[in-house]
Amino acid sequence: MNFRIGYGWDSHEFRRGVPLKIGGIKLPHDRGLAGHSDGDVLLHALTDALLGAVAAGDIGSHFPSTDKKWKGADSSTFVQHALKRVASAGYTVANVDSTLILSAPRIGPHARAIQARVAELLRIPKNNVGIKAKTPEGMGSDNAAIAHVVVLLMRRRQDSDRVALEAAEETPQPVIDDVVEKVLEGVSEPEKKKASTSPRITSKHRK
Ligand code: MG
Repeated sequence: MNFRIGYGWDSHEFRRGVPLKIGGIKLPHDRGLAGHSDGDVLLHALTDALLGAVAAGDIGSHFPSTDKKWKGADSSTFVQHALKRVASAGYTVANVDSTLILSAPRIGPHARAIQARVAELLRIPKNNVGIKAKTPEGMGSDNAAIAHVVVLLMRRRQDSDRVALEAAEETPQPVIDDVVEKVLEGVSEPEKKKASTSPRITSKHRK
């Protein structure tokens, strides 16, 4: 498969006396998100989306909340772990889209900072990271933050493929013609006739 899609969802409850972290960014607010780790709802949904895309289980199976090791953990650790699983499966992240649902604080003023941090964590350009936010109208979830994330992965090009492609792109057409000519010299007449009627390799074909 050249492409894979992944989806992740998470929710955390607001609690006083806890710092608020969303997408790896500390946001000024009177309450934070309760959780075994730093409660970063967006990074948890992102981790699940990455793991899901390569069918590698979920965040809870990799980082059980019963394990004291992850108490207060920086959730970017989970994203980095999931990224390694993506890489070992032979894929790279193409783009990410997300929606946060929370009544407060307003995400708009921080969306660019969150976008930049998530892009940095994923090592992709900022314009490949979508950060959207909504308030939970009629959902009765005013004391919770919810995150939905989708990711698209693409198969990483093998080094050998890249070398061959670069060599092909740098080879001038006369050299290719010459090689084709030499190959044809070595084949029998009927074969040669057949080969010469086949489509020529042009720079257009090589692109
Ligand atoms: Mg969570």
